[in-house]
Amino acid sequence: MHEISVASGILDRAISAAEEHGADRVDAITIEIGRATHVNPDQLVFCVETVAEGTPIAGAAVRTDVVDPVAACDCGWRGEPDDLGLVGGFAPDVRCPECGERTELVRGRECRLASIEVPEVDDESGQTPTQER
Ligand SMILES: [Zn+2]
Repeated sequence: MHEISVASGILDRAISAAEEHGADRVDAITIEIGRATHVNPDQLVFCVETVAEGTPIAGAAVRTDVVDPVAACDCGWRGEPDDLGLVGGFAPDVRCPECGERTELVRGRECRLASIEVPEVDDESGQTPTQER
């Protein structure tokens, strides 16, 4: 199952982030999941909770933030591709509606730790921004 390896990677990140904050436990983590990844959020949450047992992340609330795909083309077009549902896998063939060239997804393929919340409240607040553009 793909989600379990994704979950392990996210868990590793979360543990390092907790260590950076000097936290021995974590209240919550938020995971960004791009709609183009074909990762099932519910399954991913379950996997993260499973692999988190025995780590500082155990017992943390696991939240997901689904990211809509956005493609950008060399011609300047940028928007949400409408045919993602027809292509599977991790290299969707997205065509620009303006010029017909193949475009790159600039968002929507994320599957990463967006933020963690740790109990201590100090200057750094224990949170990292969940949005970056
Ligand atoms: Zn184009």
